[in-house]
Amino acid sequence: MNHCDKPGLMPVEVALERLLQTVEVTTATETLPLAGSLGRVLAQDVVSSVAVPPADNSAMDGYCMRFQDYQADTRYTVSQRIPAGAAPEELLPGTVARIFTGAELPCNADTVIMQEDVTATEAGVCIDEAPKPGQNVRPAGQDIEQGQVVLAAGARLRAQELGLLASIGVAEVCVYKALRVAILSTGDELVEPGNPLHKGQIYNSNRYTLLGLLQGLGLEILDLGVIPDDVAQTEAALIRAASEADVVISSGGVSVGEEDHIKSVLEKLGQLEFWRLAIKPGKPFTYGTIMQTPFLGLPGNPAAVFVTFALLCRPWLLKKQGAMQWLPDEIRVPAAFSVGKPAGRQNYLRARLISSGGRQVVEMYPNQSSGILFSASWGNGFAIIPPGEVVAEGELVRFLPYEFILH
Ligand code: AMP
Ligand code: MG
Repeated sequence: MNHCDKPGLMPVEVALERLLQTVEVTTATETLPLAGSLGRVLAQDVVSSVAVPPADNSAMDGYCMRFQDYQADTRYTVSQRIPAGAAPEELLPGTVARIFTGAELPCNADTVIMQEDVTATEAGVCIDEAPKPGQNVRPAGQDIEQGQVVLAAGARLRAQELGLLASIGVAEVCVYKALRVAILSTGDELVEPGNPLHKGQIYNSNRYTLLGLLQGLGLEILDLGVIPDDVAQTEAALIRAASEADVVISSGGVSVGEEDHIKSVLEKLGQLEFWRLAIKPGKPFTYGTIMQTPFLGLPGNPAAVFVTFALLCRPWLLKKQGAMQWLPDEIRVPAAFSVGKPAGRQNYLRARLISSGGRQVVEMYPNQSSGILFSASWGNGFAIIPPGEVVAEGELVRFLPYEFILH
């Protein structure tokens, strides 16, 4: 144990390693239409059966010719007109063809002169400047070669990948089956948005944070709503969740209060793997199994839900879904703040990367309490301060941009 670690609290790295060790990667696959596969993970390599582009084509609006035919001070006859989508005829020797961006080059043509570089009249076309051989031509296979592995099994399908697969004519993809994830929020104080708040109540925000976080991952969500702070109802809800889903994620009820029942019910129904991490916010994070179904118990505090999902649940879910990559990269950025007092837990400050005086720095939201959800919406990433460390303004700190962790 690092001398800075708080006794009894598991370091974040250890927790993550143990979480990932226990993941049994999904094997079930299904074939989906390309348009319905966003967020899914490829179960097979995809090999291109075509070249992209399929033939040499023009990168410009202009005139194409055979480079060999070029002579200064010559007027060329325009022997054909080739818009994009047309099938060109062989280029007559010594002539040029009118051609447009994306149009296939005719046989014999190898060079395109942009229209701005010619003088075109009824009588023909004069080329103002000597061309270079092959200029303004996109050669066949420049983007993708026939037979190339375009995406490997384990690749997550984002918008770019959908477009890439479409570009090689793929209409259906073999992906891993979507995990079924049950979510539930615990707490007698919770009220759904749209209803009036009575004394003692607050709106349920974690449910919506979790729904949003999960929707980006291509999962099937079983939303079990709110579970009251009651042992019997907690037990019933967890049994239902564990029997219907591949993984259960809850929020709240994992601290040490008398109204926190998740941990005791987990110990009764299943097995507690670990509890209490050296992470801030998110200390009460709980991991275990209920009737063999993995269970991830997030804290109740809204900012802690956001942090622990991104840092612990997301890698678990991605690995489980068959993804090749589940850990996000970090960058290092000068801090526009200081931390004078070392903390016992690894701190995930809700922070914002900004440009200041022509360089990028990271500033932190002033109130880092785990109940302050505004901090998550205000920021664009986490500044990570390891246990025991202090930070002087201007010093490089670890920064995890949201775009690396939230979809
Ligand atoms: P707990 O871990 O259940 O003691 O909850 C810790 C804090 O988070 C308390 O202030 C709760 O009211 C709050 N909290 C728990 N669940 C939610 C939720 N779903 N939405 C918003 N706040 C919550
Ligand atoms: Mg509670």
